[in-house]
Amino acid sequence: MKECEVCGKREAVTKAEIEGVVLEVCEKCAKFGKKVRTPKLLAKPSKPAPFPALSFFEDETPIENLGEVVKKLREEKKFSQEELAKAVKESVSIIKRIEEGWVPPMKIVEKLEKFFKVSLREKTESFLEKKEEKKEKAKLTIGDVADIKGK
Ligand SMILES: [Zn+2]
Repeated sequence: MKECEVCGKREAVTKAEIEGVVLEVCEKCAKFGKKVRTPKLLAKPSKPAPFPALSFFEDETPIENLGEVVKKLREEKKFSQEELAKAVKESVSIIKRIEEGWVPPMKIVEKLEKFFKVSLREKTESFLEKKEEKKEKAKLTIGDVADIKGK
């Protein structure tokens, strides 16, 4: 009999993933983790996947308002989301998510660029600068509002 690797008190009857580590556990302790079916995972703690947008071009990111731009370009072409999805060989849900503001991996951005014949990326540096600019603008706006209230 093998002891439960969590409490050591009862007999291990199943495998469960607890905080990323697969352990042999008793019925009681199994409730704290996810049940694991494949015994292959036993020795390997799960690794987080690399961040998709950065794995392709480290110094380039999709433009900040990619979703808006894609939607506009698509509507200019009088394409439905389904038609655009077909044209770039991606699923409709991908197109929907992009238009809702999801940042896709650069390889998808690249397909959209080829299709629309426009650049939809920017250098990470300029991307950061832009954010700073925005912050400055936001500060001004708050200040302006305070001014008006003070008058
Ligand atoms: Zn236990």
